Amino acid sequence: MNEHVIHFIYMAAAACFILALKWLSAVPTAKRGVITGILGMLLAVGGTVLAPEIRHYLWILVAFAVGGIIGVPMALMPMTAVPQRTALSHAFGALAAALVGTAEYYLDTRDVFTLTNLTHFKMGAIGLEVLLGFLTFTASLMAFGKLQEILPTRPITYKGQNIVNLSLLTAAVVVTILLILDPGKTYLFPVLMVLSLAFGVLFIIPIGGADMPTVISLLNSYAGLSASAMGFVLNNKLLIIAGALDGSSGFILSIIMCKAMNRSFTNVLFGAFGQVQAAAVAGEQKTARSAAPEEAAALLEAANSVMIVPGYGMAAAQAQHAVRELYDTLTKRGVDVKFAIHPVAGRMPGHMNVLLAEADIPYDRLLEMEDANRELPQTDVALVIGANDVTNPAARTDKSSPIYGMPILDVDKARTVMVIKRSLNPGFAGIDNELYYLDKTLMLFGDAKGFTTQLVKNLATDNGGGFH
Ligand code: NAP
Repeated sequence: MNEHVIHFIYMAAAACFILALKWLSAVPTAKRGVITGILGMLLAVGGTVLAPEIRHYLWILVAFAVGGIIGVPMALMPMTAVPQRTALSHAFGALAAALVGTAEYYLDTRDVFTLTNLTHFKMGAIGLEVLLGFLTFTASLMAFGKLQEILPTRPITYKGQNIVNLSLLTAAVVVTILLILDPGKTYLFPVLMVLSLAFGVLFIIPIGGADMPTVISLLNSYAGLSASAMGFVLNNKLLIIAGALDGSSGFILSIIMCKAMNRSFTNVLFGAFGQVQAAAVAGEQKTARSAAPEEAAALLEAANSVMIVPGYGMAAAQAQHAVRELYDTLTKRGVDVKFAIHPVAGRMPGHMNVLLAEADIPYDRLLEMEDANRELPQTDVALVIGANDVTNPAARTDKSSPIYGMPILDVDKARTVMVIKRSLNPGFAGIDNELYYLDKTLMLFGDAKGFTTQLVKNLATDNGGGFH
């Protein structure tokens, strides 16, 4: 196909990617964003396979088949496993970029004639591509292992760890610089590969499972930058644009997540957050009050306003459709029901929005944290469904708490608080929640889906009951 046509296809693909990102940032336009992104990728792949320099299609077809065999089951992983699925996608993307860089290097260093192709600039781009690509590959696999609980999720630390990690990274950068100065030193290239792969593993070891989604977003950024460097190596403008978009959006997302948890980047990367905490104040025996579905249903029915606060437990139990039924039943009875969405509720940004949209809960009923916090003091019942850390008042009051300073949903300011979860066990951050021991709190012990369904049944049969 004519080169001009291919350039035009690439430009159209780049425009699709930019529009997709724009539309993905708001719920009403998100679907359009996904479709535009798919269209952009189809154009990008289509334009590439139609390029005149491609003479044989056999290996491309083999790659499509292998990619399909791995990709289709990955697409079927449940919503709760999206962070680990994302980690796997980054691992594959980064590996592809690193292998292309490796192939280009060895093609250019075949003999003295081809070596003249390997300018200092091209070697710099290959170095960056390979360094970021290989480190993102192993780091993403480690992140997958931790989130899937194949590897221990707690941070593993040892004395001098940061110095070891920093020395390894410095060594990899020094080797890259040496290669840029003299690309013909082929014995240095495998050293760069090994250092990058090893750094990826050691970089993730001290980071706890709770911080993994933020780290995955950062790795997304590295994979994007590696792809962008690959664009310079292959002189492919679309790769440069797509990689830069990926790199910057991943970076921005990590910053948003850090802000929502009131953590700094250094704290996420070097803070070993989620280590086993020293035993909490011993001796003090706190008791939590619990209630049965009938009592909880009666309270909900008597309320004028209810704020539902969903969290990871709602996702794990797949309770969103039962929650929708509860919303319908209460709304029919004249109760004003709204949803309070914390930016890091669940295990990935937008987790709750996606689940509630799947259950067709009207979007205008969803309140962002600041708006919800303005309404909570005037709310009759805050109904927490499988959320924990994002409601923990210790974030406001306890300076020694690992989540101190994280903005939370002030459910404890509502007149009555009800919490559906299976036990008094902690959430992702691994810390106790004093909310459960307040006088105004009733624990509704059970699975989020089962208990919510029970509430709906009790409301439907119009049971009486009371608050004991
Ligand atoms: P959470 O603090 O992890 O708590 C979830 C609670 O759900 C658990 O305490 C668990 O208690 C309960 N649960 C689990 N399965 C359940 C089921 N089947 N039915 C009922 N309850 C169930 O969740 P969160 O309040 O949503 O907070 C999110 C956490 O993830 C925060 O620490 C946040 O910083 C972290 N994080 C999130 C993101 C993100 O992008 N969303 C990124 C990085 C980190 P039981 O075991 O007692 O049932």
